[in-house]
Amino acid sequence: KKDDIIWNFDNSYAQLPKIFYSHLKPMPVKAPKVSIINNKLAKELGLDAHALEHKNGLEILGGNYIPKDAFPVAQAYAGHQFGHFTMLGDGRAILLGEQITPSGERVDIQLKGSGRTPYSRGGDGRATLGPMLREYIISEAMYGLGIPTTRSLAVVTTGEDVIRETVLPGAILTRVAASHLRVGTFEYAARWGSVDDLRALADYTLERHFPDYKSEENKYLYLLKEVIKRQAQLITKWQMVGFIHGVMNTDNMTISGESIDYGPCAFMDTYNPLTVFSSIDRQGRYAYGNQPHIGGWNLSRLAETLVPLLHIDEDEGLILAQDAITEYGELYEKYWLSGMRAKLGLFNEEVEDKELIENLLITMEKYKVDFTNTFRGLTLNKIERTALFDKEDFSQWLVMWDKRRSRQKESKEDSYKLMKRNNPSVIPRNHRVEEALEAAVNNGDSSVMERLLEVLSKPYDYTEEQEAYTTLPDASCSS
Ligand code: AMP
Ligand code: MG
Ligand code: MG
Repeated sequence: KKDDIIWNFDNSYAQLPKIFYSHLKPMPVKAPKVSIINNKLAKELGLDAHALEHKNGLEILGGNYIPKDAFPVAQAYAGHQFGHFTMLGDGRAILLGEQITPSGERVDIQLKGSGRTPYSRGGDGRATLGPMLREYIISEAMYGLGIPTTRSLAVVTTGEDVIRETVLPGAILTRVAASHLRVGTFEYAARWGSVDDLRALADYTLERHFPDYKSEENKYLYLLKEVIKRQAQLITKWQMVGFIHGVMNTDNMTISGESIDYGPCAFMDTYNPLTVFSSIDRQGRYAYGNQPHIGGWNLSRLAETLVPLLHIDEDEGLILAQDAITEYGELYEKYWLSGMRAKLGLFNEEVEDKELIENLLITMEKYKVDFTNTFRGLTLNKIERTALFDKEDFSQWLVMWDKRRSRQKESKEDSYKLMKRNNPSVIPRNHRVEEALEAAVNNGDSSVMERLLEVLSKPYDYTEEQEAYTTLPDASCSS
C-alpha cells in the first residue's frame, strides 16, 4: 500500500535465536489520535510527518496496522530490579522493526503501551498519557543537553481507558533507540540460553554497535570494555546536569550507552547527593550520588554473563572480567574530573583540581543551594544571583577559583565560553514538566508542553526566553 512507503524497515534482531523474542502483533486500540509528533525527528528518520498523522500512518502508531516489512516482536530479557534477579521482557512494548534512515543509520522503532505480550505477567500491557508524555519531554530534553538517549517520535492516545488508581487515558509512545539491547538481555541469555545463544547475542551486538571489533584479539573483552566506557561516559553526563534516573535496574541499562526508560526520573534542584525520586527507593539505592556506584554494580552483572566467552579457562575469564570492572571506576573518575573542570571553565589539569571541585560541592551541600542555578550564576559571572554570595566559605572558594583560572593560559572570556557550553541554563525542572503535563492531560492543551520543549531544545542558550524557566519550584527559597 502507498502509505507504507514512509517506512523503511529491516529486522536484524529477529535473526537472533528464537529464545530472544516472541513474534506477535500489537493489540489493536479503539481510536488512535495524535497527542504529539516530533516533526524534526521524523525528518531525520526519513519519515513524512504528515503521513504519520493520517490514515495508516496513525493506525501504525496506534498498533492497529503493521507496515510492510515490519516484523513485530516482544523482546525477551531478564534483569536485576533493586538488586533482585528476575525474568522480565517487553510486557507492554512491541518492536516493529529497525528503521534504516536516509543517512544509513539503523534505529529501533518500538511501540510502548501496545498491549499484552507473553512477558506481561499480571500487567495489562498498557500505558497512560501522562507518563508517556513525560518520557517524551525528558528524552527530548536529554537529547537537547547532548546526552545519549532514546528519542520519542510520537505519543498517540488510544481512545481507551486504562485502570490504575484512577481511570486514565491510554496512550502509546513511539520510542526510537540505537537498539533495545540491555544488560538484562545478556543476563537472560546467560541464565536461560546456551553458550551458542549467548555468543550469537554478543556477535550481533558487536556487529551492530561496535563494528571496529574486527581488529581486536579478544572481541568479547572488547565488547565489555566498550560498554563500560560508554556507560562511564553516560553516567558522568547525568551527574554533570543533576539527572537522577530513578530506576537503574539492569534491564534499564542499555548496551549502546543511551539512557533509557524514563519512569520516576527527575533533575535535582537542591544539591544533595542523597536525593532520590522514586518513591519505592527507600534505601537510596538509586540516589544521585550513588548512580556511579550502581553503574559499576550493573556492569559487573554484564561482565559475569560474558565470562564463558572471555576465555576457555573460567578462572582466566573471571580475571579479565574483574580487571575490566576495576577500569570502570578509574574511567569514571577521569571523566568526572574532566566534566567538572569544564563546568568550572578549566582547560588544563592540576593535581589540586579535585579538591577545588569538592570544596565547592561541599559548600553547595552545606547551604542547600540549587545545583543548576549555582553553576549558572558562576557562568554568568553574576555571583549575586547565587544563594552563596554572602557566605564566607564561598568567598574564600571564589578566591581560590580565580587564582586557579589565572594560572591557565586561556583568557577569562574563553573560560566563561567553556562554562556556557557545559552548564545548562535550563533543565526540565519537575514543576515545569508537571505544569506542562497537567495542561496536556487534563485540559487537552499542548501549548505549554510545546513551549517547554522549545526551550529545552536549546538548554545552553543564555537568553531571556530561557531565564523564565530557571525559577525554582518554591520561589521563596532562592537559587
Ligand atoms: P520498567 O519498570 O518500565 O522498567 O518495567 C519493568 C517490567 O515491567 C518490564 O518487563 C515491563 O515490560 C513490565 N511492565 C511495566 N508496566 C507494565 C504493564 N502495564 N503491563 C505489562 N507489563 C508491564
Ligand atoms: Mg524498563
Ligand atoms: Mg518504565
